[in-house]
Amino acid sequence: MKKVGLGILSAGALLLAVMLLKTASFTSRQIAVEPVAAAEVDGQRAARNLSRAIQFKTFSDQAPRKSNSAEFKAFHGFLEEAFPRIHRNLQREIIADNSLLYTWKGSDDSLAPILLTAHLDVVPVAADTEDDWTYPPFAGRIADNYIWGRGSLDDKGCLLATLEAVEVLLGDGYIPRRTLYLAYGHDEEDGGRGGAAKIAALLQSRKVKAEWILDEGGSITVGIVPGVSQPVALVGIAEKGYLTLELTVEQEGGHSSMPPPRSAIGILCSAIHHLQNDPFPAKLEGPTRELFEFAGPEMSFGMKFLFANQWLLGPLIKIQLAKANSTNAGIRTTFAPTIIAGGTKENVLPQAARAVVNFRLYPGDSIGYVVEHVKKAIDDPRVQVRPSGPDANEASPVSAVDSPSFQVLQRTVGQIFPEAIVAPFLMLAGTDTKHYAGLSDNIFRFLPMYLTSADLERIHGTNERLGVDNYEKFIAFYIQMIRNSNKILE
Ligand SMILES: [Zn+2]
Repeated sequence: MKKVGLGILSAGALLLAVMLLKTASFTSRQIAVEPVAAAEVDGQRAARNLSRAIQFKTFSDQAPRKSNSAEFKAFHGFLEEAFPRIHRNLQREIIADNSLLYTWKGSDDSLAPILLTAHLDVVPVAADTEDDWTYPPFAGRIADNYIWGRGSLDDKGCLLATLEAVEVLLGDGYIPRRTLYLAYGHDEEDGGRGGAAKIAALLQSRKVKAEWILDEGGSITVGIVPGVSQPVALVGIAEKGYLTLELTVEQEGGHSSMPPPRSAIGILCSAIHHLQNDPFPAKLEGPTRELFEFAGPEMSFGMKFLFANQWLLGPLIKIQLAKANSTNAGIRTTFAPTIIAGGTKENVLPQAARAVVNFRLYPGDSIGYVVEHVKKAIDDPRVQVRPSGPDANEASPVSAVDSPSFQVLQRTVGQIFPEAIVAPFLMLAGTDTKHYAGLSDNIFRFLPMYLTSADLERIHGTNERLGVDNYEKFIAFYIQMIRNSNKILE
């Protein structure tokens, strides 16, 4: 008995030793960066430009189309006026009436081009919320050291920051070795099929293969990644896929006084119930694994110990991450029934019932696999399962974090935001990059600015605003990213 006890004890000690060893060898993925003098950016002037940009109501899905197009045209005119060097030195093409593609020809044709992208459109302000704004949403007020208004964060800040960066570089007489594309779609908020998809098709027809593409996405966060005290620059290296399925049940109608055991509504509800009891498997792989590979070594000891030993503690980590909706969405394909309809009268059996379920696909879970999973979970031939709506796309490929392009991005973050660490992650929301997938293997989704959880609620919400100081660094980042890509990246 004593021997068995000793055996267990020594096995436990051995296991602990292995786990401690794993923790000790879970070393930092951050890179040492030589400091640079950030470019001189006239923050006040840039803020005034962004303020004016906010005043254009460039909605992507607003009727009537004609007047909307006039708003985009006026916005194009403003950009011409605000960025004279760009409009003298770069080629500008208007794509699909409202989208813009600028080409800054590089001096070395043998190098792959780079592509910065943002979107021209914004979402409208929800009805009856205009009065909740501290300053009117389309006034572009600069107050309290913020630029206020719809689009300041999503995505006119990004759009204007990339233009400001190129304008500064042109003013310095900078000559890029790589060709730089600035691609600005006009309907990202509406799926991007009319804008970014058209730009991507044009570039594809010209056989463009970009070294990297950088779009909106993650940002610099504080206190969002658990166990990490320093700011974390979250770089989206993949984004989830999108699918909507319609579940329908058709039954004989009739009087409800002699009903079958299940009406069409009952069958449909059972189907939803079964589906909800059969969630998609949790995964600690791909982009989410990379997140913890980069963030884990920077965590407090307990958390570091946990993530260094995923080989053993993976199931425990998954259970923990599944507890909050935001982290659960980062480890699996999720779904939510979003619409349900059926029945017309209280004493009539419904002839049909219909539910709509929206899915967000984890990289690696294909649309085909998801549909099969749903059919299997429901396991009822009376329930028809079909794709619904025009928006369906597979999860994006996952960009590699050991590529020279990622390292240039990481280095640039280190130079402009030396206090932050870099961690790749999976974007839960979609961006225009879904249309650019064929144009580069290195697609990154990152807004080089600080965003708090409260700021995230302002996006598409009330009181959207961007700090002027934040905005200066935003621009400085793009300048440095372009310089680094032409200097370091070979
Ligand atoms: Zn956006």
